[in-house]
Amino acid sequence: MKKLVIASNNPGKLREFQQMLSPLGFEVITQAQLGIGEAEEPHHTFVENAIAKARHVSRESGLPALADDSGICVNALHGLPGVISARFSGFPKSDERNNRALLEAMKPHTDRRAHYYCVLVLMNSAGDPQPLIAEGEWHGEIAHQERGEGGFGYDPLFWLPELGKMSAELTHDEKHAISHRGRAMKVLLEKLKS
Ligand code: IMP
Repeated sequence: MKKLVIASNNPGKLREFQQMLSPLGFEVITQAQLGIGEAEEPHHTFVENAIAKARHVSRESGLPALADDSGICVNALHGLPGVISARFSGFPKSDERNNRALLEAMKPHTDRRAHYYCVLVLMNSAGDPQPLIAEGEWHGEIAHQERGEGGFGYDPLFWLPELGKMSAELTHDEKHAISHRGRAMKVLLEKLKS
């Protein structure tokens, strides 16, 4: 079984990685299980932050590390919350407060288009000069009120017009089949195979 440390402390993401990777024979370990603290995320791009997280966890654990940097980008807000999605409403990080802040920021806007973005970085070691990098996007709209109990983060506000559902109303498998993270994972696994 291939050991992989997930460079994240976000319980929603960890659950999704477990669901996606365990059936493929990966032993998924979290950085918290190894007592590894969070990396700084000082950068303005998702990919730079993901590389920083993967490198940090691989260095501390001595194992291959998989990092995800992701967020929601709203057209009317010029791409915000973007890289600050997790801390859009400040610290301590709170999904509930972030969703309220996003609804508030969207009040004047009729253009509700938004997309989730995810970049995955898999590093064999902290010095890996050629990490595997894969991206995924998921397009939808910001709803006017929250609905649904599934997923995490902004999912109760992420409206999928073609499905007539919020992201938080999808089953795990439905979400992984079309989500930004699911798509990025498919690309990463293809790269791993080859
Ligand atoms: P990161 O941990 O710095 O990459 O921040 C990711 C943040 O983006 C999360 O805390 C959520 O606010 C948001 N996000 C990313 N992916 C999802 C998703 O699949 N559903 C809902 N929110 C997400």
